[in-house]
Amino acid sequence: MPKPLPIADDPELNESIRGPLGRERNGDALPDMLIGGRALVGRFLIALRKFPNVQLHRNTPLEELVVEDGVVVGAIVSNGEERRAIRARKGVVLAAGGFDQNDEMRSKYGVPGAARDSMGPWSNLGKAHQAGIAVGSDVDLMGEAWWSPGLTHPDGRSAFALCFTAGIFVDQDGKRFTNEYAPYDRLGREVIDRMESGDMTLPFWMIYDDSRGPVPPVGATNVPFSATEEYVEKGLWKTADTLTGLAEQIGVPAEALEATVARFNELVVKGVDEDFGRGDEPYDLAFTGGGSALVPIEKARSTLHSSVSPTSAPRVD
Ligand SMILES: Cc1cc2nc3c(=O)[nH]c(=O)nc-3n(C[C@H](O)[C@H](O)[C@H](O)COP(=O)(O)OP(=O)(O)OC[C@H]3O[C@@H](n4cnc5c(N)ncnc54)[C@H](O)[C@@H]3O)c2cc1C
Repeated sequence: MPKPLPIADDPELNESIRGPLGRERNGDALPDMLIGGRALVGRFLIALRKFPNVQLHRNTPLEELVVEDGVVVGAIVSNGEERRAIRARKGVVLAAGGFDQNDEMRSKYGVPGAARDSMGPWSNLGKAHQAGIAVGSDVDLMGEAWWSPGLTHPDGRSAFALCFTAGIFVDQDGKRFTNEYAPYDRLGREVIDRMESGDMTLPFWMIYDDSRGPVPPVGATNVPFSATEEYVEKGLWKTADTLTGLAEQIGVPAEALEATVARFNELVVKGVDEDFGRGDEPYDLAFTGGGSALVPIEKARSTLHSSVSPTSAPRVD
């Protein structure tokens, strides 16, 4: 975990390092502290200044690898205006992320979903993969990624939604299908597997009541929430006084949704999720603040909400 870096120590860094997702997606102001990955890159850039022989070229992607006698001896890079060759005495390290932002490659390698829901750098277009493939490199696991459930924001793109503190997920049949508190990669994988086996279509919905306000009970969103009205206007968050009303709005069978919520509330009273084991693993309890993983959905004291929640990758329009 890199130590946070106050911007005041080095104001130029704030502009030269990719902003947090809130900045990129919502146009939020840049924070006055570099934290997490931004602090890591910031400290790396500061450290580089101590090595006069190091040259740093920003916005200068690798385009091709240069091969001589079957050995990679350099790289061609371009800053958009000129291409230049860099000779490597020892080797070329490819560290250019994934190809999550390249829809063509996603489709070619069978990656579910679309680039617009990826939260990786917009520059991760797979050029390094292509350069490697062009000189005969083997590739593997090209359809794999680190998945998570995602919440769709008013800009029409999804982002991580983690650390749930209430609510349930239901599928197109109005039925619960998983332990909502499970580690996010397992949740994402499960959705993809269910889609591939034809059991599920997107979007799936998060059902919750407004005992904690209209905002979904999600502890962590990498793109900060916008105003509630914006989600409502875009048809992403829906509200009704009854489950039947909610079921009509989200297009799932009302009887099934009622039975699902009744069953879940029954499990809350029992204190055990006999259906999906929510609360059985330590991870499930990481965000409950010491409370139970099972929180009832009660019409009696609140309005019911649903929130659209595709995974970060697959989605339908
Ligand atoms: C929202 C979000 C939250 C995350 N949270 C966590 C977390 O809490 N903990 C954790 O461990 N992991 C987390 N991850 C995962 C982690 O960030 C990634 O696994 C990690 O950053 C991958 O590092 P990388 O260097 O392989 O690729 P990246 O960080 O993707 O970096 C690749 C770089 O290569 C550049 N590039 C692309 N193409 C070229 C080219 N042709 N030439 C030159 N440069 C190129 C890109 O611009 C980019 O800067 C998170 C990821 C996301 C998106």
